[in-house]
Amino acid sequence: MINNLKESLVEEKVNTFFNVEAVRKDFPILERTIYGKPLVYLDNAATTHKPKVVIERLKEYYESENSNIHRGVHYLSQLATNKFEETREKVRKFINASSVKEIIFTKGATDSINLFASSFGRKFISEGDEIIITQMEHHANIVPWQMLCEANKAVLKYIPIDDNGELILSDLEKLITPKTKLISFLHVSNSLGTINPAKEIISIAHKHGIKVLLDGAQSIQHSKVDVRDLDADFFVFSGHKIYGPTGTGVLYGKESLLNELPPYQGGGDMIRVVTMEKTSYNELPYKFEAGTPNIAGIIGLGTAIDYVNTIGLENISNYEHELLVYAEKKLLEIEGVKIIGTAKNKAAVISFVLEGIHPHDVGTILDSEGVAIRAGHHCTQPIMQRFGIPATARASFSFYNTMEEVDQLALAIKKVFEVFK
Ligand code: PMP
Repeated sequence: MINNLKESLVEEKVNTFFNVEAVRKDFPILERTIYGKPLVYLDNAATTHKPKVVIERLKEYYESENSNIHRGVHYLSQLATNKFEETREKVRKFINASSVKEIIFTKGATDSINLFASSFGRKFISEGDEIIITQMEHHANIVPWQMLCEANKAVLKYIPIDDNGELILSDLEKLITPKTKLISFLHVSNSLGTINPAKEIISIAHKHGIKVLLDGAQSIQHSKVDVRDLDADFFVFSGHKIYGPTGTGVLYGKESLLNELPPYQGGGDMIRVVTMEKTSYNELPYKFEAGTPNIAGIIGLGTAIDYVNTIGLENISNYEHELLVYAEKKLLEIEGVKIIGTAKNKAAVISFVLEGIHPHDVGTILDSEGVAIRAGHHCTQPIMQRFGIPATARASFSFYNTMEEVDQLALAIKKVFEVFK
């Protein structure tokens, strides 16, 4: 399975337009050492590091702008509100949504999916209805649907994956019935790196009048996402995976569809009028934003988006592809390394296992070399079950990683084999 991938690898030249050494200077944490060794951070699918501009923006907010938003007539409140709302416009433009009304701020992708599942489920899912997900989903896009299906007596189905970690798309039409109300799937797999043909799946769904939620937690940071071109009905992502603060996220939804959905949480900001008897709700997007949000974080997310725009998503995706090709080549040169996830279209995420060695031991020894990877099921236990393995080691790359760091990873893996010899 792996070796045909090996044959298809091509030596590619490093992108000369991309100055990785200059970029690395923007990320203070990359200068630190771990156990006296330079940090090689390859856990970017879990979270990305923050550029100095984002860190400084948070400091600036708390030092000179801190106030609650949407409620105050005083200067600082209006200032904080304007800065917060500026991020909404930045996100709108970044994903090419039609209107800022379609951008709902949340705590992250998990929060966005739970918001959507609760709201959509209450209105549109009843007994016997069907929802389709895939076998490669993150638990965040499985468990909320299982909970909903259990509560509403609906049925959850999934598109299976093949040995390369690609969706068996020919099964999709067979899974769809007149009862299918929603297809919810990830754009890019955090475990396998697979890039799913989102546009094709959305178009099949729409042909049958089915709504689609696309989980962009692992796509937004790697290449251009255009929700209108994809025709996604709903799209979610987390701020911390795109160089922004933790505790920030987005739920995008087409305005006409969001207008049909009931609110999620009740509280401040999401109301128009409250009496002791009843409440009327605020307009979009505030209808879905109850309570004081992560104001500093959302403002920081705006700065992160500015930063990513400065680097350029095309540069990012080209350079990360070079890292992926080089890393797969280096890993496959080592006897006993097996890559899990060999899809034709992949983001810079490599799951691997070493013959006879538990991934947790791999992670621990790599850590002692200063190489930070992830070992485990990556919140995708069904994928592990599909491949008949308990866990994988996973190296996931960002544009601030270097070819030399890939060499460090390969050296550290060789060391693991030496230790276990
Ligand atoms: N979906 C995918 C594909 C992910 O990779 C993740 C995070 N690993 C999530 C959803 C959940 O994101 P968060 O934990 O930031 O809410």
